[in-house]
Amino acid sequence: MKLEIRNLTKTFGGVRAIDDVSLDFPSGSLSAVIGPNGAGKSTFFNLISGAFPADTGQVLLDGDDVVRLSKTARMQRGIGRAFQVASCFPTMTVAENLTAAVTAHVGQWGNLSRRFPPPGVRERAGEVMELIGLSHVANVEAAILSHGDQKLLDIAIALALEPKVLLLDEPTAGMGPEERWRMIERVRGLWEQRKLTLIFIEHDMDIVFRIASTIRVLCYGRLLAEGTPEEIRNNQSVIDAYLGT
Ligand code: ADP
Ligand code: MG
Repeated sequence: MKLEIRNLTKTFGGVRAIDDVSLDFPSGSLSAVIGPNGAGKSTFFNLISGAFPADTGQVLLDGDDVVRLSKTARMQRGIGRAFQVASCFPTMTVAENLTAAVTAHVGQWGNLSRRFPPPGVRERAGEVMELIGLSHVANVEAAILSHGDQKLLDIAIALALEPKVLLLDEPTAGMGPEERWRMIERVRGLWEQRKLTLIFIEHDMDIVFRIASTIRVLCYGRLLAEGTPEEIRNNQSVIDAYLGT
């Protein structure tokens, strides 16, 4: 699914967190959004997912403007984002969390019984666990998972809702080097397998340069540059604003 952002703007008090940003994310693309702390990266995702209303601008999904829709409606249209860990059910197991997410997706919240999920739901939850590599902890409570596995569970819950566009805000935050690469390999695998339009925010430039086909740089809420890893690596204004140190 193609995502096009047109003249998106959001202010908080006097701060222009996102200032007239326009960007295209072609169907099936894998892009990174980078930039200094406070650049507006998370706000950009919040405006796309509908967590916050935009002041002005458009969010076009295959040409349809969804900017006035609620976040639930946008999710139903195919925009997914990894939930914060806090929004999974900590005392439920990985399998139960995913079963709940799939049940919600098939519109059967009223039927949210741990023991008797609607038909097919357990199988779908199992597929997602397999895909993301959490099958070995299927029966572990979410609260006691390792940090890396909790992040994977967040992504798995997002995937259970079958997004076409997936937004990942710093999926490797707080991970050691080895765990980081493991996460990124899985994310890349998902992207390939599900033909997702995937956009991720990431600080680790080795990861960004290695896996993103297009990189977008935000700075003070504005689009500072966009291009291939090669172009961004050699862009003087990006070096000055972000890469230089
Ligand atoms: P990044 O993710 O690039 O670090 P953010 O999008 O979190 O940046 O923040 C961009 C700017 O918007 C910052 O100045 C931040 O303080 C402000 N901001 C973000 N979210 C809110 C909010 N909910 N209320 C007020 N200000 C916010
Ligand atoms: Mg952020």
